Amino acid sequence: MLSRLIAALPQGAVVTDPAATEKYREDFARAGSAGRPQAVVRATCAADVQTTLRWAGEYGVPVVPRGAGTGLSGGSSAVEGGITLSLDRMRGIEIDTESQVAIVEPGALNAAVKHAAAEHGLWYPPDPSSYEICSIGGNVATNAGGLCCVKYGVTSDYVLGLDVVLADGTLVELGGKRIKDVAGLSLLKLFVGSEGTLGVVTRAILRLIPAQAAGATLLASFATVMDASRAVVAIRSRVRPSMLELMDRTTINAVEDWRPHGLDRGSGALLVAQSDAPGTACEGEIETIRQCCVAGGAGEVFTTTDPAEGELFVAARRSAFVALEARGTLLFEDVGVPIPLLPELVDGITAIARRHAIEIALVAHAGDGNTHPVLIHDPADRGAQARARAAFDDVMTLAIDLGGTITGEHGVGRAKKGALPRQLGPDVMALTTRVKHALDPAGILNPGAII
Ligand SMILES: Cc1cc2nc3c(=O)[nH]c(=O)nc-3n(C[C@H](O)[C@H](O)[C@H](O)COP(=O)(O)OP(=O)(O)OC[C@H]3O[C@@H](n4cnc5c(N)ncnc54)[C@H](O)[C@@H]3O)c2cc1C
Repeated sequence: MLSRLIAALPQGAVVTDPAATEKYREDFARAGSAGRPQAVVRATCAADVQTTLRWAGEYGVPVVPRGAGTGLSGGSSAVEGGITLSLDRMRGIEIDTESQVAIVEPGALNAAVKHAAAEHGLWYPPDPSSYEICSIGGNVATNAGGLCCVKYGVTSDYVLGLDVVLADGTLVELGGKRIKDVAGLSLLKLFVGSEGTLGVVTRAILRLIPAQAAGATLLASFATVMDASRAVVAIRSRVRPSMLELMDRTTINAVEDWRPHGLDRGSGALLVAQSDAPGTACEGEIETIRQCCVAGGAGEVFTTTDPAEGELFVAARRSAFVALEARGTLLFEDVGVPIPLLPELVDGITAIARRHAIEIALVAHAGDGNTHPVLIHDPADRGAQARARAAFDDVMTLAIDLGGTITGEHGVGRAKKGALPRQLGPDVMALTTRVKHALDPAGILNPGAII
C-alpha cells in the first residue's frame, strides 16, 4: 500500500525511518498522546498533496497536515498508523508590490513573510509570539493571533486568497488578490481556522499594509494581577494601543531565570503596552495609558521611545512559554472573555489554582481579553497530573460561563475538543459536524481534532 504512495511521489518525499518521523509526532503542547505515523510525507508542491490525499482516500488512511509543529492544542499531533503530511518544504514567498500582497507557500515561516514584506516597505501584521518558528499554513489553519491583534486583527483579517486541496484531492482556488470580493458563499473564511480538518492549504495570498511606524513602549508594574487587569479594562475603554500584554509574577520570574531582561521580580504583574499612533497622537495615547496605570495603582511606570529598549520588553513577553517550560510539564490554556470581564476571569483562575492546589502562571494578550493560563505540574506526580487536568477543564468552564471562549487563537485541536460542545451548544455542534461530513465524508483529514 505504502509502496504505491512512495512510487507516486518524488524521491525522498515519503519518510518512514522512525528516528526521522519521531520529530513530526508531537506539537509544542507535547501532550504525550500522539500516535506513531506509518510515514511522514514531505510535500514539495500542491500536486504532492493531491497525490497523498487521493491515495489516503483510496485506502482510508488518516492524514494529519502539519506546518512547523508549534501548535499548542495537539492539532498537528500524529495519528497512529496515519500519514503526517508536512508542508515544511514548501516555503516560497513572492511579494506583489502593486497589489500589496504576499503570495506564500504554507511552509514559509511567519518571520520570513514579514522580512520579505519589509524589504518593500510593507508589513504583514499577524505576530504570534512564535512568529520566528511557526508557518503561514499553521497560522491560517489556526487563525493565529498575536501581540498586535489588539489593533491590527488576526490572521483571517489578512487572508485574501487560498489554494486548498480537499479530502478527495481536488485543488480549489478561493479568493485572490482582490481586496473586495463577495461572489458566492464565504468559503475562503471557512478554511481559515479549520485546523487541517477540511482541507490542506497549499498557497495563501496575504494582504500587506504599509510598514508600522516606530512608536513608544510602556512598562507598568502592579502589586496584583487583579490590579493590572482592571487597568487593562480602563485602558481599552479609552484607547486602542498596538500592544497590551500582561505577565504575572510567576511568568516574570521564569523569564528572568531563563534569560535576564531586567524585569522587576517583585512585581505581582507587569503590563507591556505599545502605541504606534503617528506623531503627537502617539504621545497622547501613551500618556492616556500611563494615566490609567497610575490611577489603577501601578507602582512604577516606565516609558521609552527607543525601539531597541521597547523590543527588549516585548522579547521578554514573547519568551514566556519557553521560559515557563523549565518549571515542569505545562498545560496551555487560551481562554478569552469580553474585555470588561477580564478581572472576573483572572479572579476565577486564581480561585481554580487554589482549589486544585496547582500552580497557574498567567500570560495574556490582555488588550484582547485573551489569556494564557499555563498550568504547571510535575509529570512524575500522578496526583498533580490529575489535579492539573481537572483545573484545565474548570478554566474552560469558567470562560464559557462568562460568555467567553475556550480558545482565542491556539485552536481546539485535540486538547480542548471535550469542552467545545459546551461552548457551541448542540445545534452549532451539529452544524459543525455536517460541514465536516460534507467536505470530508470518509473522515480522513485530521481525525480527532476539533470534533
Ligand atoms: C512559544 C510559542 C508562542 C506562541 N504564541 C502564539 C501567539 O502569540 N499566538 C498564536 O495564535 N499562537 C501562538 N502559538 C501557537 C502556534 O505557534 C500557532 O498556533 C501557529 O499558528 C502554529 O503554526 P505551525 O506552523 O507550527 O502549525 P502546526 O502546529 O504544525 O499545526 C497547527 C494546526 O494547523 C494545521 N495545519 C498546519 N499547516 C496546515 C496546512 N498547510 N493546511 C491545513 N492545515 C494545516 C495542523 O493540522 C494543526 O491542526 C505559540 C506557540 C509557541 C510554541
